[in-house]
Amino acid sequence: MKKECEIINDLLPNYVENLVSEETKKFVNEHISNCEQCKKQLEILREDRNKINIKSKNEQKIELDYLKKYNKKMILLKIILITIMALITILIAFSIYRYIYNSKVVENVERKISEITNLNNYHIYETQYYKINQNNEENYYTTEIFYKDGKYKKIEKIDSKNSELENKESVKYWSKDEILNKSELLEYETYNKTGELIMRMPNIYLGEGMAKAINIVMLNIRIDEFKGIECYVLRNSDKSSYREIWIDKETMLPMREIQNIYGVQYDEKNFFIEINVVTDKDVSNPEK
Ligand SMILES: [Zn+2]
Repeated sequence: MKKECEIINDLLPNYVENLVSEETKKFVNEHISNCEQCKKQLEILREDRNKINIKSKNEQKIELDYLKKYNKKMILLKIILITIMALITILIAFSIYRYIYNSKVVENVERKISEITNLNNYHIYETQYYKINQNNEENYYTTEIFYKDGKYKKIEKIDSKNSELENKESVKYWSKDEILNKSELLEYETYNKTGELIMRMPNIYLGEGMAKAINIVMLNIRIDEFKGIECYVLRNSDKSSYREIWIDKETMLPMREIQNIYGVQYDEKNFFIEINVVTDKDVSNPEK
């Protein structure tokens, strides 16, 4: 290797990086055009440099791609979180609204039902239709209760189709004291053990405390018409069954109760309630 070649070799790394003066450049160019060995050396250096460049560019690209992906993921995550929060907020707001609206209706209905039970004079006419889909068994019951000053009269009728129930009509008289004292309590058990509410009024019991709050939120209340009267319809349902209680919007008295159990059994009750129309004669046993 010539002495000049040694100098050129020292200069080449900077020459490749374009870090030399114009003069040095000229000097290197001149030497390379006449020296094959140094020319080769320069080519090797250039190749290495390119390889390094490509490698670092690739690394940069990978890093950039990663950052882009990461940012996209973060944005997506933010959108998902914001959506979830918004949905939760809407759900909470909806639940609060439902709770306030539903509990107002439920409270009024509860108050009205307890009011009726404490009245001294009422007449309730109830019809019940009951059907079992499997064997087409259909039963119609009518139950009429007259109550005045501690005395009751109950008229019951059973009219059945495709069923073993006997068609019959019965009239019974009794007093509040009798129900409370006699062992025949069992006979009236279906109604109320205290004897105060002697009619099978729709039971809107929704539990206590937190369970009640949840049940009130879950309760679906709509407005619908029955026999030309605007009603609140309180509906409890799951996948296969439902129960509805129809309440006269104006008087808050129950008008109708429907139960559909697993599509196997259908039960509908209609109520007609009158207040202060019962006379002493209505509740007096003519045989006594
Ligand atoms: Zn040379």
